[in-house]
Parts: sequence; structure tokens; C-alpha cells
Amino acid sequence: MPTKTIAILTSGGDAPGMNAAIRAIVRSAITKGITPLGIKHGYSGLLNYDIWEMTIRTVSDIIERGGTILYTARTPKFFNEDDIQKAAENCRKSKIDGIIIIGGDGSIRGADCLAQHGIKCVCLPGTIDNDIACSERSIGFDTAINTATSMIDKIRDTAQSHERCSVVEVMGRKSGNIAVKTGIAVGATAILIPEYKFNFEKDILERINFTQKMGKKHFIIIVAEGLNIVDEIMEKITKTTGIDSRATILGHVQRGGSPTAFDRVMASEMGCYAVELLSHGISNKVVAVKNNKLFAIGISDALKAKKSFDFRLYERALEISI
Ligand code: ADP
Repeated sequence: MPTKTIAILTSGGDAPGMNAAIRAIVRSAITKGITPLGIKHGYSGLLNYDIWEMTIRTVSDIIERGGTILYTARTPKFFNEDDIQKAAENCRKSKIDGIIIIGGDGSIRGADCLAQHGIKCVCLPGTIDNDIACSERSIGFDTAINTATSMIDKIRDTAQSHERCSVVEVMGRKSGNIAVKTGIAVGATAILIPEYKFNFEKDILERINFTQKMGKKHFIIIVAEGLNIVDEIMEKITKTTGIDSRATILGHVQRGGSPTAFDRVMASEMGCYAVELLSHGISNKVVAVKNNKLFAIGISDALKAKKSFDFRLYERALEISI
């Protein structure tokens, strides 16, 4: 049966570049003679029938905007079997031949539930955390590390003037990916991540003392959100070194803002690829990136994939921050 209608939803935490993906899906679908439908507020919209037809012009002027025009939601109800059945039933009633879900790990799990009820799903990795095991990159990560970098550059100016230590928490939930990339980009003296069990003396004090001996007068310490210790570390540094320290939590600025060209291009390519898969009758896949190339992996394999962490990059960061 040819694919006549494709629906799109964004779910979980928003990420800059989701709009670029939505735009690509809508336009690529229309070009192929497929009707695109937008589902608002993630899986909630599927339960509440918040579904509308999208046109070429409903996605005008959104490629440069952060957030998602379809809104996003965390829908605890979706864990319930009755609701999954209802969502699948609503898909059938709306004559949806396939759904493209843009979101993180949780959203992919939701798609897996729908797929098990016969709904054809394709997922795009959309999260600033870059913590989706099957893909080297997720939509929004590049923008988030650029935002964090430019914010910490500003913090550095004042840390430098006052010869202070700035301890900065960056996002990433249980993943240290944002912390490591941002840490390198801002020349952090130490980077604390959930993937590595740090020792305060060795990984912070010794590094501050060593770089101080080399003439360094101000310090940036990056702490990943998942550790939840930014204030504690700031207080310990002040107490043990006497260096005036400040703690900053960057927070949601990292989730918003205009997507970088990298995220816009990748999201656009992923959107077109997802439509191509569904139009060829291929479904229940996650679109992922390996060596800068897109590929499709089965949802259940994607969920089974083991998360790896680039410790080489972490070592490099420490090697040059002296
Ligand atoms: P993310 O997609 O960014 O990881 P969440 O973990 O909040 O964000 O998941 C987004 C939504 O996906 C949830 O609100 C829920 O509707 C659905 N979801 C998450 N985990 C599951 C699961 N194990 N089974 C079914 N649905 C899930």
C-alpha cells in the first residue's frame, strides 16, 4: 500500500533543530505527493486527537528558530497499555500511514510501543544531550555546545578580571558529552562528568595547583548536570585553595536559541531521509549518524545499543588545559 499520509510529533526535551527537521519532513512529503500531519504536544496530541494538516507555508520561517512549533510534552500517561492502544487506534482513524517521532531515548521507547501495535514509526534523534547510543550525533547537540561555549566565554572575562575560579554546570542529564566538548572549547582546568569517578584532590586540587604554578590566575571548572554538585565543588575549592570562586548553572539557555548551521543541515537531511524510508515502505527504524553518514537502525536494536563515551577526547582536554 502506498504511503499517503505521514504524521510528525516532537516529544521529550526540546532541542534546537527540531523545527528544521519538521520543515524538511513536511516539504519532502509534499514533494512526494504525501500529506503531512502535525501532532501537537508529543504523544499527548495523539491521545487527545490534536492533529492538523501541515502545508508548505505552515513551516515557513522556522528553520532558524529553536524550540518546536509542534510543542513537546512529557506524557506519563503513555506508559499505560490502554493509552498506547488508544494512540494506535487514533492513528488508524486519522489514516496515518507512518509517524516520524523526533525526540530522545524515552520518545524512542514510546515509538517502540506504538510499533508493537502495528503503527509504522521512524524516529529522529532529537536531544541536546547527545546520549542516544546508536547515533554519533543528535539534533541540538551542536547548538547546545556552541551556546554553552559562548556563555562561558563571558563568564571567563569576569573570572579573569577578578582572578577567580568559576565552577559552571552544563546540561546533559546523565551524559558528560556536553561537558567534555564545552570543556575543551573553553579551556577548562577540570571537567567533572558522570562517566568518570573523580577524586577532588587529584582531579581538581592538583590541577589548580599545577596550573597556578605555571602562571594561571583564573580557572574554569566544568561540572556535568548529572552530578548535581556545582555548589559543593565551588565551596570546597574556596575552602581548600583560598581562591575566590563562583558557581553558575547555565540551565535552559542551552536548550533554546537559533540552531547552528550544522544542526539545521543534519536535521534537514534526517527529515528527508525519514520520509524516504516511509515512502519506500521501510519503518520501525531510528535514523542515526556514523562517520558523518546517515543510516537506519531497527528501533529495538537502537534501544539495545550500548552507550559509549569518548574518553580519548576527555584525556585530550586535560592534556592541553594547563
Ligand atoms: P526524551 O525523549 O527526551 O528522552 P522522555 O524520557 O521524557 O524524553 O520521554 C518522552 C516521552 O516518551 C514520555 O513523556 C512518554 O510519553 C514516552 N516514553 C518515555 N519512556 C517510555 C517508555 N518506557 N514506554 C513508553 N513510552 C515512553
